[in-house]
Amino acid sequence: MTMHIVVLGAGYAGLGAAKRAARRLRGTDARVTLVNMSERFVERVRLHQFAAGQELADLPLRGLLGGTGVELVVAGVTGIDPGERVVRLDAAPHEVGYDVLVYALGSGADVDAVPGAAEHAFTLATAEGAARLRSRLAALPAARSVAVVGGGLTGIEAAAEFKETQPRLEVQLVCAGPVGDGLVARARRHLHRAFHRLDVTVREHTPVAEVGPDGLLLEDGGELPADVVVWAAGFRVAGLAAAAGLATDEQGRILVDATLRSRSHPEVFGAGDAAAAHVAGGVARMSCQTSLPMGLRAGDAVARLVSGRDLRPAGIRHLWQNISLGRRDGVTQFSRADDSPLGPVLTGRASARYKEAVTRGTVWRMRHPGPCRPGA
Ligand SMILES: Cc1cc2nc3c(=O)[nH]c(=O)nc-3n(C[C@H](O)[C@H](O)[C@H](O)COP(=O)(O)OP(=O)(O)OC[C@H]3O[C@@H](n4cnc5c(N)ncnc54)[C@H](O)[C@@H]3O)c2cc1C
Repeated sequence: MTMHIVVLGAGYAGLGAAKRAARRLRGTDARVTLVNMSERFVERVRLHQFAAGQELADLPLRGLLGGTGVELVVAGVTGIDPGERVVRLDAAPHEVGYDVLVYALGSGADVDAVPGAAEHAFTLATAEGAARLRSRLAALPAARSVAVVGGGLTGIEAAAEFKETQPRLEVQLVCAGPVGDGLVARARRHLHRAFHRLDVTVREHTPVAEVGPDGLLLEDGGELPADVVVWAAGFRVAGLAAAAGLATDEQGRILVDATLRSRSHPEVFGAGDAAAAHVAGGVARMSCQTSLPMGLRAGDAVARLVSGRDLRPAGIRHLWQNISLGRRDGVTQFSRADDSPLGPVLTGRASARYKEAVTRGTVWRMRHPGPCRPGA
């Protein structure tokens, strides 16, 4: 019987999973279909660069899939029926049946975190959101203010990139706690030096209560006017998996075991931001660094399942927090498998070069997803 593997989402996880599964199953009669709402691969880790006005490489999925045998369906997933093993789409062919499903639909900005963010804030989590922000920033007259909310990696990178690319803007970084929480003291000191050099105003311990048309209302009752608000305070996952009855956590990420197999539906695998994969000490942080390996391992697992072999633990681990501060500066903090910080920190140009090499290497890996270890 021909097995049909359907992968939902062509981000780092889904594209990796589809290509890896197809490669593993080459020469068998298994089919792999990849469903994605756009026909282009979105290099999400560069969306702050795009919003700032820089050009990104054009990466059509058909080019990245060339020679793999993976069939691409460009459509939005609107529902999953695990009973019938059917995925519903908003465009032709409107439905696609599966024997094995990989759920890798990624995440979006958590704009429901405070009132007004969904209506008034710009976001960076999707290509469409970043494109809207890019147009808005380009249209702003000089000396207009941009408030980036979120002291995590995305907020830090965005604030630095906007100010370096468009020095005429007044950029503020606003966060509820310390900026770069979780980084060691040396890394945090470097962040502050970089923001001082770039002339980005950092407002730590400033929780936002609401986003309005003219800026931020703070929890302490104060107001922070801004011409543009960018909401970069966390990601959230779409409700499709939960609506389909798949076991999910409170964030909507599908619950998977050590092999990335759904805890409720054994014919379903999860990878990337949309799956709660275990690393030593907890659940993987939503990141490209874990999403791509999860995708590759999910592709391996699917191929093993289809070939009647035992599944193996995916062995997902964290490696670092690799933060760009514009194009010429950065902070790289190396981590243990559980994401806790190790001592060494790379800063300045060395970190910027390292991050650029990792980012380029990720796209190279999307083109050549291995396997590198025979039988891995
Ligand atoms: C500005 C920015 C900078 C970042 N920097 C870093 C970094 O430096 N390092 C790092 O590790 N991580 C970084 N991240 C996080 C990283 O981008 C994500 O964790 C990663 O993209 C997750 O990969 P994924 O494959 O799970 O999801 P995605 O890359 O989001 O891919 C999901 C895919 O599914 C598609 N899709 C979604 N819903 C549907 C639907 N209903 N129907 C059809 N298709 C759908 C999307 O179009 C997309 O192609 C950054 C994120 C942002 C926004």
